[in-house]
Amino acid sequence: MLYPTPIAKLIDSFTKLPGIGIKTATRLAFYTIGMSDEEVNEFAKNLLAAKRELTYCSVCGNLTDEDPCSICTDQTRDRSVILVVEDSKDVSAMEKIQEYHGLYHVLHGLISPMNGVGPDDINLKSLITRLMDSEVNEVIIATNATADGEATSMYISRVLKPAGIKVTRLARGLAVGSDIEYADEVTLLRAIENRTEL
Ligand SMILES: [Zn+2]
Repeated sequence: MLYPTPIAKLIDSFTKLPGIGIKTATRLAFYTIGMSDEEVNEFAKNLLAAKRELTYCSVCGNLTDEDPCSICTDQTRDRSVILVVEDSKDVSAMEKIQEYHGLYHVLHGLISPMNGVGPDDINLKSLITRLMDSEVNEVIIATNATADGEATSMYISRVLKPAGIKVTRLARGLAVGSDIEYADEVTLLRAIENRTEL
């Protein structure tokens, strides 16, 4: 396409975002250059600040701007239970319903035998380390109801159960293949309440 280089580059950047095709990227690029200098500055600043200031909690793996994160350091939370999720978006989904008051562990992925992703490729070792010398007596696995979610759940329960830790799984209120991130609050709440022991 015969656009001046700066806009061609901007379009190219937008196409790198998930779900953005060339048409939408072009529309966004033209919209962006129509914005005021102040708005563009603010946009660019937020982008850089988010990247620079955010890190992953060294305890639970959640996205945070302070390490350990505010959930891990919150002494009012129930330290006897850890809810294991695939990514930080799932933590937000859970926190939104305000019914879960325990701790989290973010895996940053799922075990996927089909794609050659093993236990060492996700943030799982640190969960096991965390459980040694801790007051945790229940681990709730809240991975999505997909094949990879199931494989991950099975692996974790197989590793933890011999250590005497109660391992539970969110109830099947969630449809197979559905995302915790997009589940409505009632469904999510019911899934926690009706969790089953593995
Ligand atoms: Zn944390």
